[in-house]
Amino acid sequence: MYDLQELYQEIVLDHSRKPRNFGKLEDATGTGEGFNPLCGDQITLYLKIEDDTISDIGFEGVGCAISKASASMMTQGVKGKSTEETQRIFEEFRRMITKGTDGDYDAELLGDLEILSGVSQYPARIKCAVLSWHTLKAALNDSLNSGKEPVSTE
Ligand code: ZN
Repeated sequence: MYDLQELYQEIVLDHSRKPRNFGKLEDATGTGEGFNPLCGDQITLYLKIEDDTISDIGFEGVGCAISKASASMMTQGVKGKSTEETQRIFEEFRRMITKGTDGDYDAELLGDLEILSGVSQYPARIKCAVLSWHTLKAALNDSLNSGKEPVSTE
C-alpha cells in the first residue's frame, strides 16, 4: 500500500517544481485572475473552450508549493473535460479539501486529485489549494460570457 503522506509530499513537490500546462495560451477563449493574500499566491489561468469542452488550459503564477501543485494537477484533471463535468469535479474537490476523508466525496471523479486530500489537515493551506479552482471558475465564466467562441476567419 502507498504511504499517502509520502506520496502526497512527493507529488506536490514534483508538480510544484515542474508544473504541467505552465504558460500562456495565445488563443484562450477565457482568462481568470486569482490572488490569495494570506499566502501571496497569484495565478492567471487561460482556457480554451471548444464545443463546451476544455480543449486546452494553461496557467502562470507565483506562489507556494501547494498552490502551484494544485494548479498543475487541476489543469491535468480538467483538460478534455466538458464544462459541466469540470463544475462537478470542482464541487467534489472543494468538499474533499474542506472536509477531508469525512467529506464523502466522489473519489472516482477526482482521480489523481485525491492525493491533495491531505491538505484538509492544514486549514491555512486550504486557500492555497482552492485558489486555482476559483480562478478556473472565473475563467469559465469569462469564456461563457464573452461568447468568444473560436471563429474561423477563413
Ligand atoms: Zn500558498
